[in-house]
Amino acid sequence: MKTHGYGALNADSPLKPFSFERRSVGPHDVHIEILYCGICHSDIHTARNEWHDTIYPAVLGHEILGVVKQVGREVKRFHPGDHVMVGCLVDSCRTCPSCKQGLEQYCEGGFTLTYNSPDPHMKGKPTYGGYSKQIVVDEKFTFQVPKKFKKEQFASLAPLVCAGITTYSPLRHWKVGKGSRVGIVGLGGLGHMAIKLAHAMGAEVTLLTTSPGKMKDGKKLGADHAVLSTEQGAMEKLGGTFDFILNTVAASHNLEPFFQLLKRDGTMCLVGLPDVPHPPLPVWELTLKRRQLSGSFIGGIAETQEMLNFCAEHNVTSDIELVSIDQINEAYERMLKNDVKYRFVIDMSSLN
Ligand code: NAP
Ligand code: ZN
Ligand code: ZN
Repeated sequence: MKTHGYGALNADSPLKPFSFERRSVGPHDVHIEILYCGICHSDIHTARNEWHDTIYPAVLGHEILGVVKQVGREVKRFHPGDHVMVGCLVDSCRTCPSCKQGLEQYCEGGFTLTYNSPDPHMKGKPTYGGYSKQIVVDEKFTFQVPKKFKKEQFASLAPLVCAGITTYSPLRHWKVGKGSRVGIVGLGGLGHMAIKLAHAMGAEVTLLTTSPGKMKDGKKLGADHAVLSTEQGAMEKLGGTFDFILNTVAASHNLEPFFQLLKRDGTMCLVGLPDVPHPPLPVWELTLKRRQLSGSFIGGIAETQEMLNFCAEHNVTSDIELVSIDQINEAYERMLKNDVKYRFVIDMSSLN
């Protein structure tokens, strides 16, 4: 079926209207009319080919909330009219050890991302994401919007399926909860979700930001403390006090001052994916205190539904600025200038 959206035609020009084909609805497919789509920094990295793997034209967007139009004949869990979500993954091999353990994001057979992956259903084409009117997705990779959420909240739920799960998964993996002292580096889309989620899990949360103007916001979002990481002496005071640090920064930077904040056996987990590597970390920063440097990639399918249910239970949503599709290029520029509180979401009714 024909659909339309906005696409990047190359790395240097603004996104433009773009029409393309979606596959027809197969037995296990859900056909979704997209209502809202969040703008993740990964969309910008991909649009501008900062990871050197973009297939053009590229239709970005992997924070999708929509309404079911039609389902395939084998689909039992979803019905027309249901509100559903789609995140960063639309398929995986389903047979490797990681898939069998519900860790589809680490699929060894190769997963299919929502955009910029070879599309197994559309030979020779990449997958096209959520900056579009409709999408067809396998039911296994479709999430239910928890019933507890009200319609007025739907736009602010979209970011949960990337920014939410990418921060929820490592917080759970490293068992953050009551009694944990957690640092969140960077207050952007991921960082603001990390603060809300870690707070809801019962941790003592500290925001580490480079933006003086965000310190107050950090506390409003649920941080117990906010520290300006660039201020002389501010970081030294916190040396050796954190159990876990989640680093969400989208650019290359010196990790050492953050790493020094960890206790013995503490972990810093990187989720930001800058185009240029971070400067190397001195090995003795790891050895002397048996600290760990790690990374984490989005989250599994069952875990994503668990995160949505957790958010419904704790009334956690994203703080968003709703934009129309023709404001998308301006939204990209503002995001790069650090001027968004704290996620742009596109109102897809503006796309005609
Ligand atoms: P964002 O909204 O742009 O936030 C990034 C934050 O990083 C900024 O708000 C800023 O916080 C901080 N920062 C400090 N110095 C920076 C600099 N020189 N340039 C840019 N940011 C700087 O981005 P996001 O959507 O949260 O995404 C963050 C990163 O995570 C991106 O690289 C994205 O691709 C990646 N990501 C990874 C995964 C995964 O699975 N691992 C999933 C989604 C996204 P302060 O102002 O507070 O310092
Ligand atoms: Zn994302
Ligand atoms: Zn697999």
